[in-house]
Amino acid sequence: MAFNKRVKIKTILEQNPIGQEITLMGWVRTKRSNKNVSFIALNDGSVITNYQVVADPNLIAEEILKKCTTGACLKITGNVVESQGAGQSSELNAKTIEVLGEADPEKYPLQPKKHSLEFLREIAHLRMRTNTFSAVFRVRHALAFAVHKYFNDKGFFYIHTPIITASDAEGAGETFKVTTLDISKPPRTPEGEVDFKQDFFEREANLTVSGQLEGELAAMALSEIYTFGPTFRAENSNTTRHLAEFWMIEPEMAFYDAEDNADLAEDFLKYLISYALEHCQEDLKFLQSRLEEEEKSKPADQRSEMGLLDKLRFVVDNEFVRITYTEAIDILRNSNPNKKKKFQYLIESWGADLQSEHERYLVEKHFKKPVILTDYPKEIKSFYMRQNEDGKTVAAMDILFPGIGEIIGGSQREERLDLLLKRMEELHIPIEEMWWFLDTRRFGSTPHAGFGLGFERMVQFVTGMGNIRDVIAFPRTPGNAEF
Ligand code: ATP
Ligand code: MN
Repeated sequence: MAFNKRVKIKTILEQNPIGQEITLMGWVRTKRSNKNVSFIALNDGSVITNYQVVADPNLIAEEILKKCTTGACLKITGNVVESQGAGQSSELNAKTIEVLGEADPEKYPLQPKKHSLEFLREIAHLRMRTNTFSAVFRVRHALAFAVHKYFNDKGFFYIHTPIITASDAEGAGETFKVTTLDISKPPRTPEGEVDFKQDFFEREANLTVSGQLEGELAAMALSEIYTFGPTFRAENSNTTRHLAEFWMIEPEMAFYDAEDNADLAEDFLKYLISYALEHCQEDLKFLQSRLEEEEKSKPADQRSEMGLLDKLRFVVDNEFVRITYTEAIDILRNSNPNKKKKFQYLIESWGADLQSEHERYLVEKHFKKPVILTDYPKEIKSFYMRQNEDGKTVAAMDILFPGIGEIIGGSQREERLDLLLKRMEELHIPIEEMWWFLDTRRFGSTPHAGFGLGFERMVQFVTGMGNIRDVIAFPRTPGNAEF
């Protein structure tokens, strides 16, 4: 007989099969015992709810019951009966309990008490067994699924862009090198430089910082595509919003201008949030109460005005604010924190790069809504963004979210070969190396646009988790690559 004839707790809660004999498998969250009976709260990860198992010491041997400690894995067969207690309509009367895996209570690091998120990060291999993290990862799954559903329903094609690339498109230099050379004694050229001709790819290679450039190639054939894959940035920024390895979703569309691009981005973000609201109610309710609890330790003026669910609904129901960079600079220059010199970086003149404090002021204090900021100075944006008529700005778009800051960065792309080449020369982008990218502008060029959504920042927003390390299973940050 097959081992796995178990019923998931999610199914039991949905079907309430009173009177039936079933087999449950899962991990013990808690056990309470008195003389007559033991109550075991079992969780199998299918839902946030634990299922109550009632074990009668006349039926279940004492040495078995002794092993049903927090963290142990059990296989339990019994009858589903109406529940005596409040809160749950049924429970399982155990006939047999098999201990699949013990968990020594003296050594098991997760106890049925509140552990700090910092502590749980150190035991990331076990933290998914907590309510908080199982909820986060179920929501993360739902959002990933919704990404594919959204684009598939719209006729976009999923392109797998390379993870190893030889171009540092953003020119940021924040890349992880990929090499098979012996780094303790690499081969040298006569000039003394490392001789990458002898490396695996016969040139320098690195992990991708974005799939956009390859995405553009695909959009020039399939019209509407998206990528959804891992992205790597060796930026040494220890913030609550940066990872060295994160997942990015990058749609790229032929025949889209800047406004089409913003429309798609807004619709997409709202869809993802609606999807989570519809499919992850229980988990979001739990995460909302977790967040409320967490905020109690903050000063009153730093607590959010809305609960998590209301905040999500608010974003779905309201139009995002759309303003230009120039308008934003005016608002920021005249803002209180700027006048009172509260910003760390004061906004003095047009052209200043916006820091996260400015983005958050606009979103959280001024507009209290997501903001789509457009038309940035060309000096602070990438070479491939479409140059506006004014000669000063480009058709860039950043979407700013409350509590997060930048969640999307995108633009209409420069499709005019002469203007693109001129900009690349100004910025010293190696033109010969980019021959394949430039060919899209040589052959059948067309207006097109796209953006990148940081998936973890989206998961942060939807789950209300304050630190990006808590929405990816095994975070990679400076100094951290355990697990
Ligand atoms: P930031 O200014 O916040 O570092 P960025 O301008 O470097 O962001 P882009 O290059 O436009 O970001 O990347 C697109 C999106 O990818 C961002 O809007 C953000 O959601 C996400 N993102 C960028 N860097 C990281 C990172 N290190 N960790 C997680 N997500 C990131
Ligand atoms: Mn960055």
